[in-house]
Amino acid sequence: MAKFIFVTGGVTSSLGKGILAASLGKLLQTRGLKVTIQKFDPYINVDPGTMNPYEHGECYVTEDGAETDLDLGHYERFLGVHTSQANNVTTGKIYQEVINRERRGDYLGKTVQVIPHITDEIKRRMLLLGNSDQYDIILTEIGGTVGDIESLPFIEAIRQLKWQLPKEDYLVIHLTLVPYLASAKELKTKPTQHSVKELQSYGVNPHIIVCRTEHPLGNDRKKKIAEFCNVDYNSVIESLDAETIYDVPLNLKKEKLDEIVLEKFGYTNLPDTNLIEWNAFLQRYKFPKKEINIGLIGKYVELKDAYISIYESFIHAGAKNECKVNVIPLSSEEINKNNIQEKLAHFDGIFVAPGFGQRGIDGKILTIQYAREKNIPFFGVCLGMQVAVIEFAKNVLNLEDANSTEMKQHCKNPVIDLMQEQKTIVNMGGTMRLGAYTCHIKENTLAHQIYGATHISERHRHRYEFNSNYLQQFIDNGMVASGINPDSNLVEIMELPSHKFFIGVQFHPELKSTILQPHPLFSAFVKACLS
Ligand code: GLN
Repeated sequence: MAKFIFVTGGVTSSLGKGILAASLGKLLQTRGLKVTIQKFDPYINVDPGTMNPYEHGECYVTEDGAETDLDLGHYERFLGVHTSQANNVTTGKIYQEVINRERRGDYLGKTVQVIPHITDEIKRRMLLLGNSDQYDIILTEIGGTVGDIESLPFIEAIRQLKWQLPKEDYLVIHLTLVPYLASAKELKTKPTQHSVKELQSYGVNPHIIVCRTEHPLGNDRKKKIAEFCNVDYNSVIESLDAETIYDVPLNLKKEKLDEIVLEKFGYTNLPDTNLIEWNAFLQRYKFPKKEINIGLIGKYVELKDAYISIYESFIHAGAKNECKVNVIPLSSEEINKNNIQEKLAHFDGIFVAPGFGQRGIDGKILTIQYAREKNIPFFGVCLGMQVAVIEFAKNVLNLEDANSTEMKQHCKNPVIDLMQEQKTIVNMGGTMRLGAYTCHIKENTLAHQIYGATHISERHRHRYEFNSNYLQQFIDNGMVASGINPDSNLVEIMELPSHKFFIGVQFHPELKSTILQPHPLFSAFVKACLS
């Protein structure tokens, strides 16, 4: 039977529940436990797939094709373990399931209510990953802040689970803020006391309180929080603002969070944590020997969360190359013929981001032309690859009105076109080509050199594809389709052998880069930018 840890948040949002869960998960994992993390989000969307990145940040895609919250990316990057459809549940998913059952008549005439029907479905999902013996520990992060109306059924489900799960398999951690009042030069514990009281008023007593703080709490304050909030003295943990998110596991280790959890769960004799590799990464990351600037050309550049996995992948790849990678976001809408030199000249490499829709496409085409003609390392992902194809069609193949039918439905030369299976789709949610597909890599290509393999698997999220009717023209003019899906023949990788480093991929390598296993494409791109 797996053991369950529930993580709630108090006082404000953005305290880093996801990083706390991922960090604790990492500590427990290196002690030999099999850990997974799931997130329960209170919003009514069935998944974040239909949400604008400005609303919700990046949409993270799992191997099995779930469109999920970006926190799942942190879980995978920290733990190096895949998540799945079951790891992200929203209020929308819960209600959809309950309403479908009601329509089928499964409730046999009963009035369908939040309690018990919604909470039963929440509990079923919370326990789902524990049904196999795949995991020893299941961490569950509850999105939102305690006190929000929409997260109440989740909190109620946690309360009920206390009576359903064995005592030694059930633990609640509450993450809260201890603000520092600069004028009074004092840390204030009252918001924490109130937020724990709020949680207790719903019948949930946290076992451990983790306090985000800018300054050390000191033992007196910890004692005060413990007494006012009814937790053990050793169970008030300080989480000082860290220099990087990768320091958080080390800080929590210093506070003995893993030991306290294991003690409460009744584990004895587990090996100590092993953070040798983790520390080696941190060392390389914090003390780089070189530095480069990479332009991230996209359209959601104001919001870091919109490209979070890309930024993280560059951190992994930078550490691997012992190089500080400054990723400088630049809106493609700002780029035009007159300013392109000034905008791009200081970059050692150019990355063109994934995306949807027409906005900013012209700037991306100009950018890629610039990188191609000036022999500047170029890496395009998904839409970035598609625009590289459009640019080549326009400027090298001289195909008049070359475009993607996403941008111009009736263009003369649709070099990127809607995939056949997408043509009859009407519902937009969850219907893209999603998740892991295999790709066959051609030998003696850049892709082959980078991966060192002929069969790979990568994750996808797209509706459009390279139009293979044009493939021969591209090949004749020096572009190589170095990665092909063996089942559908869909072009997955395009590259230009005549160029220093020019590669575009239809899939999303950023979704598979982890702290201990940087993605080879990002590593190779950083290396190319260095030389
Ligand atoms: N809009 C493009 C498509 O749907 C690219 C998607 C993406 O970049 N994720 O094919």
